Amino acid sequence: MKIILLGPPGSGKGTVAKKIHQDYNLPIISTGVILRNAISNGSELGKKVEKIMNVGDLVPDDLILEIIKERMMQDDCLGGYILDGFPRNTRQAVALEKMLEETSQNIDYVFYFKIDFDEIVKRLSNRRVCRQCGLNYNLITNSPKNKNKCDTCGGELFQREDDKESTIKNRLNVYNEQTFPLKVFYENRKLLKIVDASLNEKDFYELLRAVLKS
Ligand code: AMP
Repeated sequence: MKIILLGPPGSGKGTVAKKIHQDYNLPIISTGVILRNAISNGSELGKKVEKIMNVGDLVPDDLILEIIKERMMQDDCLGGYILDGFPRNTRQAVALEKMLEETSQNIDYVFYFKIDFDEIVKRLSNRRVCRQCGLNYNLITNSPKNKNKCDTCGGELFQREDDKESTIKNRLNVYNEQTFPLKVFYENRKLLKIVDASLNEKDFYELLRAVLKS
């Protein structure tokens, strides 16, 4: 099964990806995670993308497509995968379609995460991430026991550079201009499932799971 999670930053794609991964044993391909890891490792790729990511712009398509092609060819992706944060614009979506067509494959579901931008700003500005295990917290709805430490592994919690308020604005503009048109792209291909991402985590996932079971 191949699933695309499509929605604005902060709509819960990463959290849902982890749940689907647990329930269906599908690998998660998150371009954001791959790029952030490249930055922390100090790799050439990391050096190329750090400034772009810090201001909330999109990394060039050619770099992203190279990452995706390489990741999809790995053995664990043979039975399918969950795409989180890719495709991000029409060019990437068309390239993905072409890649899959070449091997007679197709996407099964595209979940569109519907949520107001006010809620997104609240979520992103209160998001904290564990430097060690990558777990996400929200200082209002899912706060850690200790403001600076992960409940699970004790790692340090930090605010992503691109979760600072000035960058959030740009990320939402970029989303509106470049990613939102993919809703119609996948609607036209009869793959789109709209889910209400403003619901609490549990109800939201139940809804999505019902679609996967049906
Ligand atoms: P995310 O973790 O998905 O919110 O991604 C964080 C940042 O990584 C984005 O703001 C972009 O700068 C970059 N990024 C992630 N995925 C893509 C993609 N598919 N295309 C271009 N840039 C991306």
